[in-house]
Amino acid sequence: MIDPRRVLDDHFHDECGVFGIFGHAEAAKLAYLGLYALQHRGQESAGIVSSDGVNLHTHRAMGEVEEIFKPDVIAKLPGNSAIGHTRYSTAGDTSLNNCQPILIDCNKGKLALGHNGNLTNAGDWRRKLEHRGSIFQTTSDTEVIVHLIARSSARNLSGAIGDALNQVEGAYSLLLLTLDELYAIRDPRGFRPLNIGRLGSVWMVASETCAFDLLGAEYVREVEPGEMVRISRSGIESIHFAPEKPHQYCIFEHVYFARPDSTVFSRSVNHSRETLGRLLATEHPADADIVVPVPDSGVPAAIGFSLGSGIPFRMGLIRNHYIGRTFIEPSQAIRDFGVKLKLNPVRELLAGRRIVLVDDSIVRGTTSRKIVRMVREAGAREVHVRISCPPTVSPCYYGVDTPTREELIASSHSPEEICKFIGADSLGYLSLAGLKQALSDTEGKFCTSCYTGNYPTELVQLEVNHKEVNGRSAAGSSREEEKPAPAPVAANREL
Ligand code: SF4
Repeated sequence: MIDPRRVLDDHFHDECGVFGIFGHAEAAKLAYLGLYALQHRGQESAGIVSSDGVNLHTHRAMGEVEEIFKPDVIAKLPGNSAIGHTRYSTAGDTSLNNCQPILIDCNKGKLALGHNGNLTNAGDWRRKLEHRGSIFQTTSDTEVIVHLIARSSARNLSGAIGDALNQVEGAYSLLLLTLDELYAIRDPRGFRPLNIGRLGSVWMVASETCAFDLLGAEYVREVEPGEMVRISRSGIESIHFAPEKPHQYCIFEHVYFARPDSTVFSRSVNHSRETLGRLLATEHPADADIVVPVPDSGVPAAIGFSLGSGIPFRMGLIRNHYIGRTFIEPSQAIRDFGVKLKLNPVRELLAGRRIVLVDDSIVRGTTSRKIVRMVREAGAREVHVRISCPPTVSPCYYGVDTPTREELIASSHSPEEICKFIGADSLGYLSLAGLKQALSDTEGKFCTSCYTGNYPTELVQLEVNHKEVNGRSAAGSSREEEKPAPAPVAANREL
């Protein structure tokens, strides 16, 4: 049995989506809908915690939002406020125990916590806290925050949260629910997105604004880096809990992670992607007949490439959206069986034509090779691959599930070598300058570490953490069935 959604998905993965709501009689039901809109940010598990003012009620399970939250489950989550979480694990193993929101009853009261991001000094803190007698219930980095909140001597909860967060490093967009308050918090560098929405007197917070659209809510603004927003019956209050740090918004949210219909970091994701495609057409023009996206994520950049180049856009590959969790492999080997489950070529469009094939990234290179072969077998005369970002040469340590550096084909192969490996006639990546230009990033406020290998936080400890994380992930999931790229075609490049 294989999980085709994993095997074929040679992408970086955002690991979590968070949604919160305050002041609605059907809070859990709306949280379910909010999570449904954020499903693309994590499919391994999901959870909702609601508050009825007396108790916190929770349901968490492995699987997708729609599978988990049936009407009878939602009926057991009463109250006017709720937070929800979808997860794709990076830190901590893939088990029900690590599902979020985490629920605790401590000296600060009953709390629930949902986290999108990754704490880069969680291992150090865990060791220190265990040495001092703390007993951890999960292997998730998020639990460190819970212990630090409980140990704080601050007189009120917002002070304790600030105390805790000023001791951790890394990426966190956090939702914290108490019996009568909802906190929305973003780390001082702002790695991961977090937005505020409003439906009349009802407040909402979400990783992406597409969740507000589904619920008919208006987008108000982002939670700012280093800001803690407290929502209660008295209204909304802003607390700046940490000194300002240079912003490091994850640029990959705009390249691939976020839904194109979302606003992320106060920018339209669709607009960013079309602009990436336009600039790609300028940097790497191709003499071709049609522009074909690798659906779905490559579509906006391909539209941009078409608009920028004047070459007609055609949906030459069709994606099957109805792929289940498991599939029985054919007993006899069918070449590229996996990729054929997900994508099918439109021969009438491809046969005899010179194709510009636009995708948003190449991670290991193995899936790109299969897609190029599929397009050729459908009769394409030439296949020119264009990627709407620079080569990904380094892993992410800020809340994104990535292969090891060794598995990233661009960490040890030049674009020419990768072109040969995937079997394309030509290959062009958007430059880093082009990527920043598309995002209007004149101040360097976006994180680009996976393209440069330069990290805004200390790296030695991170390397250790990342290897641990990848070891656990590989053991617990089928996504590693996608084999890494083969040995270098030529000598390894230095990073
Ligand atoms: Fe995003 Fe890459 Fe930075 Fe990670 S390293 S936060 S994926 S830009």
